[in-house]
Amino acid sequence: MFSNLKRDLVFPTIGSGLLFAMLVGGGLLYSSFGATSRADLVTALLVNAIMVVGIQIFIGNTGILSFGHVGFGAIAGYAFAVLAIAPARKSTVIRNAPWNLNEVQLSPVMAGLVAVVVSLLVAVLIGFGLARSGAASGAVAATVITLALLEVTHELAINWTDLTGGDRAGLSFRIGQTIESRWPIYLALFGAILIARLFAQSKTGLLAQAGREDNLAARAMGINPTVQQMVALLVSVAIVAVAASLRVYQIGNITPNFFFLEYTLLTLVMLIVGGRNSVTGALLGAVIITIGSEFTRYLAGPSVSIPGTDWILRDGLSRIFLGAAMVGFMIFRSSGLVNDWELDQWLYRKTQSGRETAPSLPEVPEPPAPIRLVVEDVTVDFGGFRALTSVGITASSDEIIGLIGPNGAGKTTLVNVITGMVQPTEGKYFLGDKQLDGAPPRMIARSGLVRTFQNLRLFSSLTVRQNVEVSWTVAESHHLEKANLSVDEIIRQSGLWELRHRRASELDYGNSRRLELARAAALRPRFLLLDEPTSGMSDAESDRMIEQVRATARSVGAGVLVIDHDLNFITGISDRIYVLDQGRVIAEGTPGEVQADPQVQAAYLGSAAATD
Ligand code: ADP
Ligand code: MG
Repeated sequence: MFSNLKRDLVFPTIGSGLLFAMLVGGGLLYSSFGATSRADLVTALLVNAIMVVGIQIFIGNTGILSFGHVGFGAIAGYAFAVLAIAPARKSTVIRNAPWNLNEVQLSPVMAGLVAVVVSLLVAVLIGFGLARSGAASGAVAATVITLALLEVTHELAINWTDLTGGDRAGLSFRIGQTIESRWPIYLALFGAILIARLFAQSKTGLLAQAGREDNLAARAMGINPTVQQMVALLVSVAIVAVAASLRVYQIGNITPNFFFLEYTLLTLVMLIVGGRNSVTGALLGAVIITIGSEFTRYLAGPSVSIPGTDWILRDGLSRIFLGAAMVGFMIFRSSGLVNDWELDQWLYRKTQSGRETAPSLPEVPEPPAPIRLVVEDVTVDFGGFRALTSVGITASSDEIIGLIGPNGAGKTTLVNVITGMVQPTEGKYFLGDKQLDGAPPRMIARSGLVRTFQNLRLFSSLTVRQNVEVSWTVAESHHLEKANLSVDEIIRQSGLWELRHRRASELDYGNSRRLELARAAALRPRFLLLDEPTSGMSDAESDRMIEQVRATARSVGAGVLVIDHDLNFITGISDRIYVLDQGRVIAEGTPGEVQADPQVQAAYLGSAAATD
């Protein structure tokens, strides 16, 4: 479940305790001086913090903006209220409740548990909807689906009066039935923080974050992001349901507007202001927005009067504040105050990173039995344009094969076909005796054909080590051939050890390329398909890259298919070369043979001169 117990379990647990203690301690301190209304404010803050942490688990890890979590809250809130309110009370407000629910009474704990189960059932449905819509970070369909959920629950709450009591009366507990002590809230809050932190550090969390950073690259590394999205949704909704039950219980009432737009705005602003990719940020946002809302409410209240300001210092001021905070942060600091900073990981790095020792360079293992990649008669049409015409290549995993051709020749298209990202109009391809055409990219990657991209596609806000860990984790959990290298060994071998805690986005170009190669190697490939790994590099950098490609291929026992448009580079590295021009293979052979080929010289040098 975790790759590193100290980093992923021990420190997050300690950190969760610290966050919890700061929040509750601060709240108690504040409410100990002053009116009893302060205590209510603190209670509301703590409940909202649980809610926001619950939402963070989904939005933070998957990157999918959900407006629907408060809708799940509505479902849970009503389920809780309907089950927990005494039958005597129900007989006056919801006498005709369906399924004789008006005669049921559960203890608050049982009612809360059922509320969690009911919202989880709905979450499974919504989760499948999200998966079908191709949910990914920034996908509009997913956001619309969640917004629809919010709207539908609201309409049901208003109109299904037999169950909800409708718009005006709502469902209320009689006095004396609201929550008596804060202990359930404390328990739920600590649990929510801990679960959120452990989830983010878990393997599932890491793969979800990879999908968040780059959905296509995640698929190319063997991940099916919809799986992690579903898990994140369920964990997230369970916590949201607990928070909603507590909110209803604490206020002693529920009406359709309790879990609707205003509460959605409040919780999303808390999340965005603090930093949606961080649990610490979610809590910080909850505190800041609570303070801000209170202060604006105070300004708009009767105790403040500043001449000439009554047009702004009115009832709606705190809502204006929320809207302004949302807009301001979206424009000027969309990653929030702390971005993805986490207290426990900061503590971990402060205290532990000096203790990490670089592994020694791994020995080169015995090469595994060669396997063949065979591409037969692949033709690709893009609308009326034929990008590849009957292309056939064979490669053995003990070779380095070069693929050259001028820009637009179809090299990238061929790699897209082999990795399942473009469906060929005609043709087949095999790895060993396994036919792979038609398989989705993640299955092809797990089968052993692993690529890099012409335009780098790293998981940019993850660290160097996490980038490698992502594919290593996929290899591990799908029991791909036994690892001969650890994550740290791969990083060391790629020359990235000193940079292992850096974000991928902070690397220079050469190191980014190296990291992409390391990430591919960690998936235990049989073939590495490298799309212009040296493009944009100086000659010296290119030489270093060639060395690294060779060393990496040897150490993971993979063959290489490397694309370049630079004839010199490719002849320096390849055992055999295929030359592609205008979608056809025009020559094949050793570097010497290919260079001497008059057709290659004519076609290739002619157009290379034109493009370079
Ligand atoms: P190379 O990698 O050799 O430079 P590509 O494989 O990227 O060339 O492109 C080959 C040709 O196919 C180009 O003319 C390009 O414009 C076209 N092409 C590539 N991908 C698509 C696509 N998805 N839709 C339409 N045309 C495409
Ligand atoms: Mg290309």
